[in-house]
Amino acid sequence: MSCLFCSIVSGDVPSNKVYEDELVYAFYDIDPQAPVHFLVIPKEHIPSAGAVTPENSAVVAHCFEVIAQVTKELGITDFRVVSNCGLQAGQSVPHLHFHVLAGRDMTWPPG
Ligand code: AMP
Ligand code: ZN
Repeated sequence: MSCLFCSIVSGDVPSNKVYEDELVYAFYDIDPQAPVHFLVIPKEHIPSAGAVTPENSAVVAHCFEVIAQVTKELGITDFRVVSNCGLQAGQSVPHLHFHVLAGRDMTWPPG
C-alpha cells in the first residue's frame, strides 16, 4: 500500500523537515494555512485519529511532547493543533497527522 506520508518518512518524497526522532517526523505543510503551519506524524502508519488504540497510543502522546518542544524552540506560545479524521472532516491524507498552526488570529468554530 502506498501512503504519501509513509513516503515522506522514508525520504522517497522530499519534505521540509522541522523535527525527527525514532518515533515521530515533523515537516512544513506544502500548502500553509497560517504563517506557521507544520505537520507532526508518527513514523508508524496509523490511518487516522479514529485508529488510535491502547497498543499504539504512546506515539500519540509523544507527538504532543514534540509539539510542545518544537513550538517552544520556534518561540511560539499561541497555536492550534488540528487532526482531521475522515473525508467529511477534511482528511485528505490517510496517515495520522497533527496540524500545528500559528502566527495569525484563529476563528472558532473552524469551518
Ligand atoms: P488533511 O487534509 O487534514 O489530511 O491534511 C493533509 C495536509 O497535508 C494538507 O494540509 C496538505 O497541504 C499537506 N500535504 C499534502 N502533500 C504534502 C507534501 N508533499 N508535503 C507537505 N505537506 C503536504
Ligand atoms: Zn502512512
